[in-house]
Amino acid sequence: MDLNNAIIIKFGSIMIIKFWGVRGSIPTPLLPVEYENKIREILSLASAVDISDNNKVEAFISDLPSYLKTTYGGNTSCVTISSDQVSIILDAGSGLRLLGSDIENGKYTNITGDEYHMFLSHLHWDHINGLPFFIPLHKNNSKINFYSAHENCEDVLSEQQKQEFFPVSLESRPVDIEFHQLTEENEIKLKDLKIQTKKLGHPNDSYAFKITDSNNKSIVYSTDGEYDHTSKMDTYIAFYKDSEILIFDWQYSPEDIGTKKGFGHSSYKIGIDIAVSSQVKKIALFHHNHDYNDKVIDQNFENAKKYLRDKYPESKLEIILANENSDINI
Ligand SMILES: [Zn+2]
Ligand SMILES: [Zn+2]
Repeated sequence: MDLNNAIIIKFGSIMIIKFWGVRGSIPTPLLPVEYENKIREILSLASAVDISDNNKVEAFISDLPSYLKTTYGGNTSCVTISSDQVSIILDAGSGLRLLGSDIENGKYTNITGDEYHMFLSHLHWDHINGLPFFIPLHKNNSKINFYSAHENCEDVLSEQQKQEFFPVSLESRPVDIEFHQLTEENEIKLKDLKIQTKKLGHPNDSYAFKITDSNNKSIVYSTDGEYDHTSKMDTYIAFYKDSEILIFDWQYSPEDIGTKKGFGHSSYKIGIDIAVSSQVKKIALFHHNHDYNDKVIDQNFENAKKYLRDKYPESKLEIILANENSDINI
């Protein structure tokens, strides 16, 4: 075969999103009583099932409502996005601890090497509280690049590890740390990814990130944002426009959000309206309210799907519920 004349076909590359923490505000482990109640409910539904038949058991499990089959997870915000060439970490909530462990144990191989790129939407506790427990922070050869639009990022991360709060200071760690200042005007290029930044309405500001690969496919991570439906909506719609997936803060149900003005969060209605206007392909509902258990989250998810069907019957938008430890290929 004449290699000079060989035709090289480049297949479209993919980006892999993995959710390590999907809760808002504070880690929310499943309570023992909630676990027990799930067992009780499953057993009551299983009374007519022949449990000696494996196939029937599998079919029964597959038909169970999601809130009984799974738990959506209790760790706070942490998401990874991996392209062919590089991985980035979005937020350092308590889910970051699991990511660090999986990297250390060789269970997560999409991040290789000793250099990490961590983008922080903002510095509220639920978005940074996993950092002290991130194993690479404690490694000699590691380098962590922090990217933040908050000018005091270094001070806040250092403060979090003052001795009153944590026994080991950030400065005493052997890891090499570099801080990169983000602005809305400048974009960051990391190998085959481009990352842009957009300010959201949130106490002390939060920032959305738009991650675009070499095929011009975009993922938007937009958490901790409140929208006031002023003329600024056009700028959000322009930023989210045509993305493959919008990861969106749906902290409050439409019933609860009325009393939470100024708290800096959104609902599925706001998310779906924006996603449809922006013509994104998928919306992943994210930053689940710590006061909502799996059953309430499931019900709100059903309500979200109904809202989409009723209000936008022609829309092809797909709604996903972000689930801890799940991944999505884009
Ligand atoms: Zn948050
Ligand atoms: Zn916040």
